[in-house]
Amino acid sequence: MASAFGHVAVAYAMGKTLNPVWASTRFWMLTVLCCLLPDADVLGLVLGIPYEHMWGHRGLTHSIFFAVSIGLVLPKLAVPFLSRWSVHYGMLAMYFSLVTLSHGFLDAFTDGGLGVAFFAPFDSTRYFFPWRPIAVSPIGLTSFFSSLGLGVLLNEVVWIGIPVACWLIGLRKVQKKRASLSREAL
Ligand SMILES: [Zn+2]
Repeated sequence: MASAFGHVAVAYAMGKTLNPVWASTRFWMLTVLCCLLPDADVLGLVLGIPYEHMWGHRGLTHSIFFAVSIGLVLPKLAVPFLSRWSVHYGMLAMYFSLVTLSHGFLDAFTDGGLGVAFFAPFDSTRYFFPWRPIAVSPIGLTSFFSSLGLGVLLNEVVWIGIPVACWLIGLRKVQKKRASLSREAL
């Protein structure tokens, strides 16, 4: 996996890109939940489920199927008054699906472990992207807070932190420009 910091940074950028006017604490909490939830499968390692199993690490919970399932459920929790058949519900469902899927995408850019079962439960093949610059994060807090974990964080600053920061700066400029244009139109 990439570290939790890397996953949250990407999810934050996605939330800022959607930038809903009603973005609440609940919206942001669900955004963070979505981007970290796939790694709940590390519990399987504790329970003795082999890494390469469908329920193993980077298996079903990292798949497109899982991301879409989560995406379909969460909009109602984020905005309880939203109708299930509204355009906004569909947009939020897509958003939460993509945030959940962003986890597997980042993992597929890492340089260690097994690949991601994007097409589980229909196909258990594990995939990596051809280019894998992100250092794999150690599993477990003790190993993370070691020199190995520090190296991972520095690597993520380069490959995740800087691109995300550039994206947010560009986005802020576009959103400011848009706001001033709509003020002028009034
Ligand atoms: Zn993961």
